[in-house]
Amino acid sequence: MTEVRPTPPSADGDRAARRPSEVSVRMAAARAAAILTVPAAAVFLGLVAVGELSPWHGLGGVAVTAAASFLLVRRHHADLAVLRRHLDNRAGVDDPRSAIAERRSALAGIGEVGAASELALALERADRRAQDWIDRLAQRSQAQALVIETIPDPLLLIDARGRVDQANGAARRQFGQQIVDRDLSTVIRHPDVLATVRRALAGEAGGDVEIAIAAPVERVFNVRIEALASDGRGGAAALMLFVDLSAIRRAEQMRVDFVANVSHELRTPLATLLGFIETLQGPARDDPDARDRFLEIMKSQGHRMSRLVQDLLSLSRIETNEHQPPSDRIALLPVLEGVKATLDLEARRKDMRVRLEVDAVLPAVVGAEDELAQVVQNLLDNAIKYGRPGTEITLSARRADRVPASFPGGPTGKAVAIAVRDRGDGIAPQHVPRLTERFYRVDAARSRDLGGTGLGLAIVKHIVSRHRGALGIQSTPGEGSLFTVYIPAADGAAPARGATAA
Ligand code: ADP
Repeated sequence: MTEVRPTPPSADGDRAARRPSEVSVRMAAARAAAILTVPAAAVFLGLVAVGELSPWHGLGGVAVTAAASFLLVRRHHADLAVLRRHLDNRAGVDDPRSAIAERRSALAGIGEVGAASELALALERADRRAQDWIDRLAQRSQAQALVIETIPDPLLLIDARGRVDQANGAARRQFGQQIVDRDLSTVIRHPDVLATVRRALAGEAGGDVEIAIAAPVERVFNVRIEALASDGRGGAAALMLFVDLSAIRRAEQMRVDFVANVSHELRTPLATLLGFIETLQGPARDDPDARDRFLEIMKSQGHRMSRLVQDLLSLSRIETNEHQPPSDRIALLPVLEGVKATLDLEARRKDMRVRLEVDAVLPAVVGAEDELAQVVQNLLDNAIKYGRPGTEITLSARRADRVPASFPGGPTGKAVAIAVRDRGDGIAPQHVPRLTERFYRVDAARSRDLGGTGLGLAIVKHIVSRHRGALGIQSTPGEGSLFTVYIPAADGAAPARGATAA
C-alpha cells in the first residue's frame, strides 16, 4: 500500500508574494479601464473636433467612461483574486477535506453574477465529486486496514528503509506490541528472511522462507515475502506474511510416530508367533509338553495383538465422533456396577478388592453409556494392573463440588466426578502430563507384561473430551494414584438412587 502524501506547502512568504494584493488588483483594473476608454475617447474627441460637443463635455464623457470601466473591471478582478487566493491556499494544505470544507467561507466575497461566480459554482460541483471520491477511498482503506488487522496470521509491512511500517494484531502478539518503526533485523534475526526482504526492497522478486521461532512458544512459519509498488516517499515497500505450519508439522510428526509405534507394538508378538510356529513345525514337532506350552504363549500373544487392534479401532471411532458430543441421559450406578462385576475376578486374582462408593442421590450425566463404561473399565483395569496386591481400590461417583479449570462448562459448570483410587507405586510427577499420549508408558516392559497396550488413557482422554468433560490425575510415588473424570451433569432430578456396595 502506498500512502499518497500531498506536496509540501511552499513557504508562506512565497505564497504571499504570489497572492494578488489590492494594489495589483487596482493596477490591473486601471490598465484594463485605460484600454477600454481609448475607443470612447476617440469618439468624444471626434465629436469635439466637428463641433458637436464642447471640449468640457468631451472631457467629462471620457472621464465618466474611464471611471465606469475602472469600477466594473476592478470588481471583476477582485472576485478572480479571491478565487485564486483560495486555490493557492488549497494547493498548500495537507488535508483536502478541510480545504473543500473551507471553500464556502473563503469565496463568500464573490458576487452572485458574473464569470467569477460561475467559476465558483463550477468549483463547488467539482468539489462535491472530489468529496465523494475521497469518502470512497477512505472507506476502502478502512476496510483494507481491518482485513490486515484481522488476518489470523502475523503480517508485517516493511518500509523502504527496512523498518516495520505496520503490524497486524497477530504480528504484535507474536513479536511484541512495540515493533512498529523498529528495524526489521531487531524483530527477526533469521538471515534468510532478512536477505529476502532486502532483495524485495531492492525491487527483485520476494520468496518463501521457512523458519522456526522459539518464543513465546515454539512455532514453525512459512514466511511469504512480496515486494510492493512504492513511490519511494514512505509507506510500505514489502509485505511479510507468516503462515503457521506448527499444527501441520505436529500432525505429520504424530502420524510418523504413530505408524512407527503401531509397527513396533505388532512386531514383537508377530515375531514370537512366527518363532513358535517354526519351532512347532521343526524341533518340537513330536514334543506334546512343549507344544502345549508354546500354544499357550502363542494364544497370549494373539490376544495381545487383538487387544491392540481393538484399542486402535476404539480410538479411531472416538476420534471420528469427537466433535459431536453425546446427548443421552445416563444413570451412572448401573454402569459402575457392570464394570465392577466384569473386573472383580481380575482383582481377586491379585487379592484386591474394589469398593464402590456412590452418592445416595447422584445426578444423571449427559453421555454415551458404552463410552463411559469404557472409561471406567480402562481406569479400573489400570488400578488393578498397577495397584499393589492385597490392597483396596475405590471406585466412586459423586456430585463435583469443584471442577478443574479445563472443564469446558467453566468453573461453575455442574458435573459428576467419577474417581478411581489405587494403592500402588504411584507415578513420578514428570510422567503425569504425558500419560494420555498414545503409547506413552512409564515402564514399557512392565506395561506389556501386564497386557497393556499403552492406549488405555489415550482412549479415556478422547472419550472425556467428546463428553466435554475433564480428566484429573493425582499421584504420589509410593502411595498410589487417583484418576478423576468430570462428566457434565444432566439437568433435572436424579434418575437413579445411588448406593454403596463393596
Ligand atoms: P497401559 O496399557 O500401558 O496401561 P495406559 O494408557 O492405560 O496404557 O497407561 C499409560 C501408562 O500410565 C501405563 O503404562 C503406566 O505406566 C501408567 N499408569 C496408568 N495408570 C496407572 C496407575 N493406576 N498407577 C500407576 N501407573 C499408571
